[in-house]
Formats: sequence, C-alpha cells, structure tokens
Amino acid sequence: MEGLVKCSRVLYDNEISKKMKEITNLKKQLNGPKVLFKDMDESWVAREEVAKEIEKTLTEYIKGNWHESNSGLFCEDVDLPDSLEHILFNFTKDKEWSYKTGYILHDLIKTIYNSLKDAGIIDFEDEDSANLIAAIIVKGVNNHLHEGDGLWGGAILDNCCVFKCDDCGKIDNWKEDGICMECHEKETL
Ligand SMILES: [Zn+2]
Repeated sequence: MEGLVKCSRVLYDNEISKKMKEITNLKKQLNGPKVLFKDMDESWVAREEVAKEIEKTLTEYIKGNWHESNSGLFCEDVDLPDSLEHILFNFTKDKEWSYKTGYILHDLIKTIYNSLKDAGIIDFEDEDSANLIAAIIVKGVNNHLHEGDGLWGGAILDNCCVFKCDDCGKIDNWKEDGICMECHEKETL
C-alpha cells in the first residue's frame, strides 16, 4: 500500500512539473520578447520604422509578379513570411518569436487577401485595384501590430516595448514624465 502511495506521489509530482513547464512555455509565448527603450517617444520612432518597412514589403508583394501554383497564387518577388520575420527580428532580436509572429501575420494577410479575392473585389491586372488591396492589407497588419483591439493591450508590439522607471528603477510597459504607472499613482495620492 505504501509503495502504491509513493508511486502515485512520484507520478503526481512528474505531472505537476510537466504542467509547470508547459505553463512557463506558454507564458513565454504570450509575453514575447522585451525591448528596452528610453521612453515611449523613442519606442514610437522605432515602431514607426517597423510600420514603414511592413508597408514597403506588402506593397512590393501585392504589386509583384504572381503566378498560380499548387498552393494557390504565389508571388515571385517577395518571400513574405521571410520578409516579415526579418522586420520583426530587427525590432526584437528574438529569432523564434519573429519566425512565429511572421507566420501569424502571413496567415492574417492570406485571410484578408483570399476574402477580397473570393468576394470578387481583387483584380490584379488593374493598378487602382492593386493599390486599394495594398492599402487594406497594410492597414490590417499595422493595426494588428500597433493598435490591437483598439483599447488597452492586444497590439503585438505593445507587449514588446518596456521602459525603466527613473524613480524606482522598475521595468514597466508604460512610462510618462520619466516614471512608471505605480510612481505616478504614488505622486497623485
Ligand atoms: Zn516607478
């Protein structure tokens, strides 16, 4: 009986440690990489650069040379997942995260693109139509990176930018007038 109790204890401990590892990994995935900036203005300059690069890549992609392949339409000029990964890596220096997020954005682009195509809105031969599609997709991707759900959080790059409070030294994802949210609250008390 005692042996059985010990055995189930070991199994239970193993199970717990496995679950803890899973949770840690999931948390890591959720949190993503952190990039330390002097202040929020500095982070917005860097994010503006990301937005510009995304726009440039997507415009080249949409206006590029297309042909039919087994997996649907294929653009010969731009390897999109690779380009997106590169832009995200330049910002975060995190290879694994940039690779995964590049694919998430690529899926988003394909979804917007296929929806417009299925609805009969896209005409690749037509310059105006291509410009319109480029504008919609660029907006969709940049919203995902910078605006999120329109309220607090949700934007991919919001979670990556952190700042050091000049007062308490804490690393926080918000900073104004040199100090973190908590120090602001203390000041207003
Ligand atoms: Zn502080």
